Amino acid sequence: MVDRLVNSEANARRIAMVENCFGSSGRPLAEQGRVLVGEGVLTKMCRKKPKARQFFLFNDILVYGNIVINKKKYNKQHLIPLETVKLESLKDEGQFRNGWLIRTASKSFAVYAATSTEKEEWMAHIEKCIEDLLRKSGKQPPSEHAAVWVPDNEAAICMHCKKTQFTVLNRRHHCRKCGSVVCGPCSSKRFVLPTQSDKPLRVCLQCYDELTRDRARPAQAQQPAMLSPSKEGAGSGESSGDDDSDDDDDRAAATDNHDEPKFYGDGEKTDDTNNHSSKETKNIKE
Ligand SMILES: [Zn+2]
Ligand SMILES: [Zn+2]
Repeated sequence: MVDRLVNSEANARRIAMVENCFGSSGRPLAEQGRVLVGEGVLTKMCRKKPKARQFFLFNDILVYGNIVINKKKYNKQHLIPLETVKLESLKDEGQFRNGWLIRTASKSFAVYAATSTEKEEWMAHIEKCIEDLLRKSGKQPPSEHAAVWVPDNEAAICMHCKKTQFTVLNRRHHCRKCGSVVCGPCSSKRFVLPTQSDKPLRVCLQCYDELTRDRARPAQAQQPAMLSPSKEGAGSGESSGDDDSDDDDDRAAATDNHDEPKFYGDGEKTDDTNNHSSKETKNIKE
């Protein structure tokens, strides 16, 4: 489907445009054989609440970021290699409709499209890219995926002890193994989850028990480990508040009007032959 690289010249311009919108906050994206397959806004379930994020689907990676100025400026770029991705459709539930999970070994989260058609389109395009990639590389998709974090507001009390009420002082923590929201004492243990990090990560007591039981089996390379409380939250991604870097900075996001996602490729191949750059710009970003 991405044969002829979706008009390599138009594709190169689109990718340059994406780079431009992320500016210095993003990584270089132009690479031999890389094609921008589609783009659009999806609602990403973040730790505190759902937030609009701009997504770019390439034939080998999925890139997303915060919207600073709609269609002009994005930041907080995240880049996910597609060959590690597994999608799981979600059933509609109340206000959460047209959603699916994007799961990888190191991070998993839910996204929601505006309509069921858009959900189908997104999922089909992503699945197709993953399939093509795995076929080409001969690799197997990862068998283990990171837990999807339970959003903060879905847990007023600790999901482990079912007693601790969360307050400003009794902060919420997330178990990196099961994604539960738990209190400090119920997540005092650390365990190395190799697919997520080399460093020991916060796990709940229940997962800790299960993981240490698993470890008795010889094939498991996982190591239990304790961190002294004083080290907690110092540097690195492991903060005691478990802050998800996606969660701040979404000035422009809330008021966006809905735009349909745009997928390049099929049926578009003749589009660019007589368009010049200014028109092309408009074409992509309209
Ligand atoms: Zn607890
Ligand atoms: Zn757990």
